[in-house]
Amino acid sequence: AHLDRIAETDGKVHAFLHVDTEGALAQARRVDEAVKAGEQVSPLAGVPLALKDVMTTEGVPTTVGSKILEGWIPPYDATVTRKLKEAGVVILGKTNMDEFAMGSSTENSAYGPTHNPWDLDRIPGGSGGGSSASLAAFQAPLAIGTDTGGSIRQPGAVTGTVGVKPTYGGVSRYGLVAFSSSLDQAGPCARTVLDAALLHEVIAGYDHMDSTSINAPVPPVVAAAREGLSGDLSGLRIGVVTQFTGEGYQQGVLRSFEAAVSQLKELGAEIADVSCPSFDYALPAYYLIAPSECSSNLARFDAMRYGLRVGDDGTRSTEEVMSLTREAGFGPEVKRRIMIGTYALSSGYYDAYYGSAQKVRTLITQDFAKAFEKFDVLISPTTPTTAFKIGERADDPMAMYKADLCTIPANLAGTPAMSVPSGLSDEDGMPVGLQIMAPALQDHRMYRVAAAYE
Ligand code: GLN
Repeated sequence: AHLDRIAETDGKVHAFLHVDTEGALAQARRVDEAVKAGEQVSPLAGVPLALKDVMTTEGVPTTVGSKILEGWIPPYDATVTRKLKEAGVVILGKTNMDEFAMGSSTENSAYGPTHNPWDLDRIPGGSGGGSSASLAAFQAPLAIGTDTGGSIRQPGAVTGTVGVKPTYGGVSRYGLVAFSSSLDQAGPCARTVLDAALLHEVIAGYDHMDSTSINAPVPPVVAAAREGLSGDLSGLRIGVVTQFTGEGYQQGVLRSFEAAVSQLKELGAEIADVSCPSFDYALPAYYLIAPSECSSNLARFDAMRYGLRVGDDGTRSTEEVMSLTREAGFGPEVKRRIMIGTYALSSGYYDAYYGSAQKVRTLITQDFAKAFEKFDVLISPTTPTTAFKIGERADDPMAMYKADLCTIPANLAGTPAMSVPSGLSDEDGMPVGLQIMAPALQDHRMYRVAAAYE
């Protein structure tokens, strides 16, 4: 049924870059046989899922939204992919994304944009717009995204779906094609909080293949979501981050947020304002750290090892082939970031730029720590605005970057955060998201609140 739904709708939505019909049906048959044979199967066995094209899949193309990896077929599965397969999840295909996960609209995909199912003229968010759009279009009930600065939560917010960025290190990065390694984190996307929790427990856990994987028990997110469904939040202390309101925020978003605050109070939570002054510097710090790490990570696309190779006709040097390939294979946003990152890391500038940004990162982590002394979770709107029109911000990188104003601090601090649907804006009728943030390894706290609120 989901494959049929994709066939019916994806001509308009363009959530998928590759639909793996054969692989999906084979996995579904395996699960059917296991069930018939009376075998014990996992809770998500047989449930279809859309996988962001940043995760490697053995034998199935993985482009990361880039021409430079066109035609590349990975010889191995990412740990997330492997865990999904082991749980009997049916991977329907690979979803569209901004090239190398750089963007907030999927317009930076080399394969054309994804459209928001709520209004096809609008963006579905990014970089994981394909994953969230596939949920909103009922093409898949579950999806996987990755969140470096907001790429799970912002698409979740603007498509009216749930998106979770787990604690950094909570889900393995092995096989997640790297953008900014100290920020990248994979997580679950779904239409309900409990579905996201069930998926979270399938993909999370220690992995010796990822040197930053946390060797600690997986937070009990399913139990917390079930507990939250009772709708009782009495005694829970919620902080409203004062930095995330005001100028640049749509009135419809702010009104939806105020309504969420009232609803959480009715559920028994104690709510007060909390100031995190360093959050004002999160965006500039991010746009030094993420490009710096990307300029280093993307050096591996050297025309020799993967995918595209341009100009290799026997007359050119290796350097010329590398340079022609990178010129043809990377899009404008990726090139912009490689140049910013290379500059920020160059000798003489390293301390002024990268070093300062790392200090800001510490201040942000300290602001979170202070706020969590007084509050169990923090909340804010997920994004300052609802989904904008396709093309509206395409020539204005700064306007595009601002889509992640509220989401980036959690990436810099490594703490978990999620977006849960918060109704429709009374301005334009488009979905709005409520962001819930928790301390590291306390992912279950935000699931409890989100399930109660949902
Ligand atoms: N929009 C942000 C960026 O372009 C975040 C992207 C992400 O989380 N992958 O860097």
